[in-house]
Amino acid sequence: MSPELLDAALAARGFMPPDEGLALFRAGRDAAAAVPGAPLLEIGSYCGKSSIYLGAAARDGDTVLVAVDHHRGSEENQPGWEWHEPDLVDPAVGRMDTLPIFRRTVHDAGLEGTVVALVGDSPTVARFWTTPCALVFIDGGHGAEPAATDYRVWTPHVAPGGLLAIHDVFPDPADGGRAPYEQIYRPAVDSGRFSEVSATGSLRVLRRVD
Ligand code: SAH
Ligand code: MG
Repeated sequence: MSPELLDAALAARGFMPPDEGLALFRAGRDAAAAVPGAPLLEIGSYCGKSSIYLGAAARDGDTVLVAVDHHRGSEENQPGWEWHEPDLVDPAVGRMDTLPIFRRTVHDAGLEGTVVALVGDSPTVARFWTTPCALVFIDGGHGAEPAATDYRVWTPHVAPGGLLAIHDVFPDPADGGRAPYEQIYRPAVDSGRFSEVSATGSLRVLRRVD
């Protein structure tokens, strides 16, 4: 990864540790090579930290990253919850708005030509999505219902030979919330359609094998 983009990713706000971000970059690069011309797609961009790692891979692979987020925050980002950041509330609307910061992050990284923001609700966007993706990265809502929905609506869009990356996978309940493990990782592996290629921290990368 270019030193400039790595610096930008490290400085960006968000929830992606450096080793997992670099693993995500490598997955994006490998996916772009395995399925040439297909886009990378992420669910859950927040302020754009993971978008830089995947945007760097997309740029190297001559493709784009489609970054899907409604930018209103997940349940766990709302006031009173563990992952709330009060300065991200738009006082005029009374709801979170991470889009301005996301936009600044992508601009400052020089990735506006590569990272395409798609602002909307994940299942609503998926209803009208038809393009096979070289990589789908799921890091959206971490409740059981949103995670199960993201599994159901997005995994069919991973191209044959492409990659499915999942964040916040904690097989041991002592380490964190269960939904990405129980509602995305397990069903993907148990379906026989995906096989694990790497594990870095809570990031899992699976390849579509069917
Ligand atoms: N990948 C980010 C962190 C994502 S946090 C990083 O590297 O820092 C989870 C994000 O998922 C939030 O920004 C939230 O707005 C988004 N999200 C949650 N549910 C969503 C839904 N149904 N549709 C679109 N985005 C959603
Ligand atoms: Mg995450």
